[in-house]
Amino acid sequence: MVPADTEIGRILVITAHPDDVDFGSAGTIAKWTDSGIEVSYCIVTNGDAGGSDPSVSRADMAVLRQAEQTAAAKQVGVHDLHFLGYPDGRVEATLALRRDLARVIRLLRPDRVVCQSPERSYVFMGVSHPDHRAVGNAALDAVYPDSRNPFAFPELLAEEKLDPWTVREVWISGSPAPTHYVDITETFPRKLAALRAHASQIKDPAAIEEMLRARLARSAVQGGLPEGRLAEAFLVVQSG
Ligand SMILES: [Zn+2]
Repeated sequence: MVPADTEIGRILVITAHPDDVDFGSAGTIAKWTDSGIEVSYCIVTNGDAGGSDPSVSRADMAVLRQAEQTAAAKQVGVHDLHFLGYPDGRVEATLALRRDLARVIRLLRPDRVVCQSPERSYVFMGVSHPDHRAVGNAALDAVYPDSRNPFAFPELLAEEKLDPWTVREVWISGSPAPTHYVDITETFPRKLAALRAHASQIKDPAAIEEMLRARLARSAVQGGLPEGRLAEAFLVVQSG
């Protein structure tokens, strides 16, 4: 059973790169913020390995992508973003990353965390980028046990006064085995606007709507929704 959104006050979305949240869950997030839930993003890298223009320096790309993600977030009602600044393309699920994610969880105290799948999909290669899998793994470890155990990374409590916090549930996007489908037909235009805010990453802006509609319609059919609907899919895990 997935708890009703009325029981949820705050949600934290953890992703590897700017734009991941918009591909995976922006339609669902727009519904959450519309219903008054506070949503924050934690983005582990600044996406400095993204884009295809060699004339843009990697430092400039990081600044640009942070600005694009901030603009995209506004489209779906999110104004609180935390960038951890890890190098794009080289993320590993280290103890340092787990501590950094546990810190953000303890700071924001979310009821629900949304993260990427640590499991590889053999259907869409892009969903299983190594950074996505590493961040998904570290995020799940940060949910359990790191953020709730006072003896995990004790400096968070002793030096930063961040009390332990138990996240109630995790929604994993890009999972090969989703269990929950959210009908985003009504918020699809805002998801599309959020994705288009990542202009440096989109080679063919005209093609993106059709590609997305096809993918989300397939997801809706898998979830048993009526013909013509669009859905984002998640594996929902109870964690507290
Ligand atoms: Zn990504």
